[in-house]
Amino acid sequence: MMDGSGLPTTRSTCPYCGVGCGVLLTPDGNGGLLVKGDPGHPANFGKLCSKGSALGETVGEEVNRGYRLRTPLVDGKPASWDDALQTVADKFRAAQQEYGPDACAFYVSGQLLTEDYYVANKLIKGFIGTANIDTNSRLCMASTVAGHKRAFGTDTVPGTYEDLDEADLIVLVGSNLAWCHPVLFQRVLAAREKRGARIIVVDPRRTASCDAADLHLKLVLGSDVALFNDLLARIEDAGAVDADYIAQTDGIAEAMAAARENNPTETGLTSEELDAFAAEWIGTEKVVTVFSQGVNQSTSGADKVNAILNCHLATGRIGRPGLGPLSVTGQPNAMGGREVGGLANMLACHLDLENADHRAAVKTFWDAPEMPEAAGLKAVDMFRAVGAGKIKALWIIHTNPAVSMPEADAVREAIAGCDFVAVSDVTGRTDTARLADVLLPAAAWAEKDGTVTNSDRTISRQRAVLPSFAGARADWDILAEVGRRMGWKDVFNYQHPAEIFREHAALSGIAGQMGRDFDISGLAELSRDEYGALKPLRWPVSATRQGGRFFSEGDFFHATGKVKLVPVRWRPPAAKTGPRYPFRFNTGCLRDQWHTMTRTALSARLSSHLAEPFLDIHPDDARSLGLAPADLVSVKSPQGSAILRSRITDDVTTGQVFAPMHWTGETAPSARIDALVAGSVDPVSGQPESKAAVVDVRKFEAAWYGFAVSL
Ligand code: SF4
Repeated sequence: MMDGSGLPTTRSTCPYCGVGCGVLLTPDGNGGLLVKGDPGHPANFGKLCSKGSALGETVGEEVNRGYRLRTPLVDGKPASWDDALQTVADKFRAAQQEYGPDACAFYVSGQLLTEDYYVANKLIKGFIGTANIDTNSRLCMASTVAGHKRAFGTDTVPGTYEDLDEADLIVLVGSNLAWCHPVLFQRVLAAREKRGARIIVVDPRRTASCDAADLHLKLVLGSDVALFNDLLARIEDAGAVDADYIAQTDGIAEAMAAARENNPTETGLTSEELDAFAAEWIGTEKVVTVFSQGVNQSTSGADKVNAILNCHLATGRIGRPGLGPLSVTGQPNAMGGREVGGLANMLACHLDLENADHRAAVKTFWDAPEMPEAAGLKAVDMFRAVGAGKIKALWIIHTNPAVSMPEADAVREAIAGCDFVAVSDVTGRTDTARLADVLLPAAAWAEKDGTVTNSDRTISRQRAVLPSFAGARADWDILAEVGRRMGWKDVFNYQHPAEIFREHAALSGIAGQMGRDFDISGLAELSRDEYGALKPLRWPVSATRQGGRFFSEGDFFHATGKVKLVPVRWRPPAAKTGPRYPFRFNTGCLRDQWHTMTRTALSARLSSHLAEPFLDIHPDDARSLGLAPADLVSVKSPQGSAILRSRITDDVTTGQVFAPMHWTGETAPSARIDALVAGSVDPVSGQPESKAAVVDVRKFEAAWYGFAVSL
């Protein structure tokens, strides 16, 4: 297609958050790109946020000179692709043969395209023979996966973005949608404008999302289960349980009993606030409860998800227009990773690793020699196993665990001490890439071709519009080549991502026949041209069904044929505050940065929003510590330390501090936030508690200050 000025324009998707906005990409003639929102994409209808709008500033030779990798590196020295890939294959083969398959591990990313993810999962689970593959989605939304599976029997997002357009009440729980999913937030604001939808924010911190809220419930950090259990009990008291729907569920009595043991004062909210919330929620049929990392990143994350789902199930408010629970993912393809089984406890196409029939079906389909019978190591355990010397060969793909994992200092040391580490990335300038034995230059966004799935099950194409920088290769291609070099030539003989997509779609048809939700078998015969032209569409896509919502009636995936309400009880975060570590330490994202800044920091415009690492602290706490605005503070936890600039604000409550998590050893070596966070995990989901560490805060007495100014 052409843009208004006759230049060739390509439809693709933004590589940042899970909203999955469509973009129109037009080469600028100088190796860069002009980027606009795609008016035809159902996620954004032409809108983009600050990050998406600045994508053009992050590509091209001028921006990337000296930043992108130009050649593979082996032991820090330039090497040929042949040598580098053979080294990776040899090292994994040696580790597998000498120590067994479980001595191998992949740690991958929601930045991968579904086709990349599929090949990675197939290689390690089906052929190397271990389930030791986990993804940084473990840090993002594993609790939602676990909560969905407990309630629905599958990891299914029931609703769609259109529900936001039709809702009368939108509740944001643990979600600063205004900054983290801005285009979706625009949709929430449009619903308010058009139909008077009301907005409630449930968050221990006042965020930008609160500016538009009719009610902000500033609850005690981590007490969401107590809030939603209170709501569940009040639903019954108000006679708002939907008897017809409840007949299709299990567990209402147990869930209600647990809810009635609840003590809502744990939320720290007043009875007036609790009354107001319950009255709005119960009194509004069309209610969408949006939840995100404030729910997931918790040692009770799965319980929080089920506490929310219980309320929607009890009232039958699910699977119909304008209502339902809606989890929003952090990454562009966290959902695709879940679909291909990129987590250590899943198989492809929402099949279960623990189910012998499912394992046999995938093994037969792949013609695989191996298929692990037990779940592999989840992220925190994986890096502990690396540190203990149990993992001998580790491949890290498009993610930066030396910064982003909890206990980041220990993780950095573990990676540095591992026998063999391969890293695939676009640059060598990350904390993790600097630790690689083999560093493989991977193609970046706008250079690679495949599909992603956004938070409402919409599959969209990402398309290559720029040549691969200095011969960088697509991840599926790198992974398949290593598979071939390890001896599995035929099964990894892919020439194009369309072949991988078709294979995944065909396997999903088998999953569909086995009663799974994820079925895109209607796309299993796509030609390469049809794949190239594929328009955004929502799964499932099968002979009997396309898109739509789940769970309004009859489409349940537990063996009982019912959905489940799960009894949950509030419990506090794992780390306890006390005299040594008196502050609760919350972490999160900024509007204009993404993850560890490897792309967003290339844009001067984005970096000017909030330019340096900081710590938000309440005025009363600042006074008692003798802090003035912009003082440097030393922040210490049992796991690590940081030096940050103080911002004195009542956005946070007394006793609570907040820091954004983007800075790294490359950008601010004393502000690696996840070095302060403990590796405590949710017992169900394995997701770490990234938002509830404990710290001590002191004024940092610098001997002298300097300012560096550069052009
Ligand atoms: Fe990209 Fe998310 Fe912004 Fe959309 S909302 S432009 S997907 S970062």
